Amino acid sequence: MIIGIDDTDSKEGMCTTYLGAVLIEKLKRYGTIEGYPLLVRLNPNIKYKTRGNAAVAFQLELKNIEYTEVIKRLVIETVENMAIFSDENTNPGIVFIEEYQEEMMNDIASFSLRAVQDVLEIHEAEELLDLFHISHKGFKNRRGLIGALAASGFVLCGLPDFTYELIAYREKKSWGTARDIDEDSVWHAASTCDTWDTVDHENRRIVFAPHSPDPILFGIRGGSENAVRLAFSWINSEPVERYVVYRTNQNTDMHLVQAKITEVKDDRSYVLDGIVSSPPGTIEGGHVIFELTDGMSLECAAFEPTKGFRDIIRGLRNGDRVTVYGSVKDGTMNLEKIRIKSLNQYESRNPFCCGKRMKSMGRGQGYRCEKCGAVHKEQVKEMIQRSISSGFYEVPPSARRHLAKPLVRFRTTAAASFCARWF
Ligand code: ATP
Repeated sequence: MIIGIDDTDSKEGMCTTYLGAVLIEKLKRYGTIEGYPLLVRLNPNIKYKTRGNAAVAFQLELKNIEYTEVIKRLVIETVENMAIFSDENTNPGIVFIEEYQEEMMNDIASFSLRAVQDVLEIHEAEELLDLFHISHKGFKNRRGLIGALAASGFVLCGLPDFTYELIAYREKKSWGTARDIDEDSVWHAASTCDTWDTVDHENRRIVFAPHSPDPILFGIRGGSENAVRLAFSWINSEPVERYVVYRTNQNTDMHLVQAKITEVKDDRSYVLDGIVSSPPGTIEGGHVIFELTDGMSLECAAFEPTKGFRDIIRGLRNGDRVTVYGSVKDGTMNLEKIRIKSLNQYESRNPFCCGKRMKSMGRGQGYRCEKCGAVHKEQVKEMIQRSISSGFYEVPPSARRHLAKPLVRFRTTAAASFCARWF
C-alpha cells in the first residue's frame, strides 16, 4: 500500500514530515517500509504553502492483507490527532494506493510532475482519485489531496533524480524553545563528503536548523544515506526524539522548465536563455534587478537575502549572454542560479585623438578632436576590463530554495569517485 499525506501543519507548529515519521513508527507492527520514505517538494510558488511545500509518501508491505482497514484507520486517526485543524490554511489530504494498475501510471506520473512545475486545482486530484478508484480522505477544502496524490505518484512511478535528507526531530517538551546544537560539531559535520547546505561558509552561518517552533531539530542533505548518516554521527545536540532518512526531490531542479520568455507564466519556475538588455541596478531593500531579452523581455532579480550573489549580478552589462534559473512571481524572475556564457568585452566610445576623447558634434554628426580638428564618423569599439568572469554562479546556501540544485551536484563524476573513498 502506498500512503501519501499533505497539508497537516501551520506556521505555529507541526510539520508533515514529522507526522510521516510518527506514522512510519506506528505502522511497523503492520508491515515494513519498502525502500525509502519520500519527502517531495512541490511547486515552491504555491500561495497556500506553509513553508517549503512538502508532502510525504511511502510504501508499506503489509504483513497481512487483512490489516488494510486497520492501517487506514490508524493513518486517518493520526492525522486527525496531529494536524493543526484550527489554521484555516490547513486542509489535510491522505491517499492510499492499494492496487497497481498499469493504466494509471501515465496520468499519475504527469499529475505528480505538474504538482512540482505547475499550479493545480483540487478537482484535478479528485478526478484522478475517482477515475482509478484510489481510496483517500480529504479534510476541510481537501487541498491536501493534491500533495498527497503527487507524493504517492512519485513512490509509484519513481523519482528521476533524487537526494537524501536525514531529518532529526526534537523531544516534544523542547518544541518552541531555542535549539541546543553544538556549533563546532556542526562545522565539523559540514565537511562530510557528499553533503551540502549544513552551513553557509560565505556568510558564516549554520543553515541546517530552522528557527520556527516546529518539531524539526535539523536536516542533513546529501547524495547518499551513508553520507547523511556519517554527518549526523558527528553532531552533538539536545536529545533527538527520532530521525528519518528521506529520499527526496530536493536539490534536483525538478521545478525548472526550459522555456522562451514568451511562454513564461507567474508562479512557475524556468531555465531561460537570453541577453542582458538593461544594466543591473540596486533598488530599495538592496535587491538587484536587470532585464533579460530573447526577443521578449523579462525582469530578473537577485533579492537581498542572496547576499554576495548580487555582486555577480551587479557586474553584468548589456550584451552579456546568460542562462538564468529561477521562479517567476509578479512578472519578475527570482534568480536561483545564473550561467554567464559570454561577456560583452567591448564598449562603444568616442574615438581618441591628441590624448583626449573626441567631442560629439551632435546626433549622427560624427566626432571632432577639439585640439587638431580631426573628424571621425562613428564611435569605436574598445575592449574593456570586466569585474566578473563567465561561469556558473548560485545563491548561497542560506538563500537556497529546497528544490534548487546546488552547483556541487553538477560536478558529480569527479566528486563521486572522491567521495566513494569515504564510505
Ligand atoms: P511544510 O513544508 O511545513 O510541510 P508546506 O509548505 O508543505 O508546509 P502545506 O501546508 O502542505 O505547505 O500547503 C501546501 C498546499 O498546497 C497543500 O494543500 C498542497 O496540496 C497544495 N499544493 C501543493 N502543490 C500544489 C500545486 N502545484 N498546485 C496547487 N496546489 C498545490
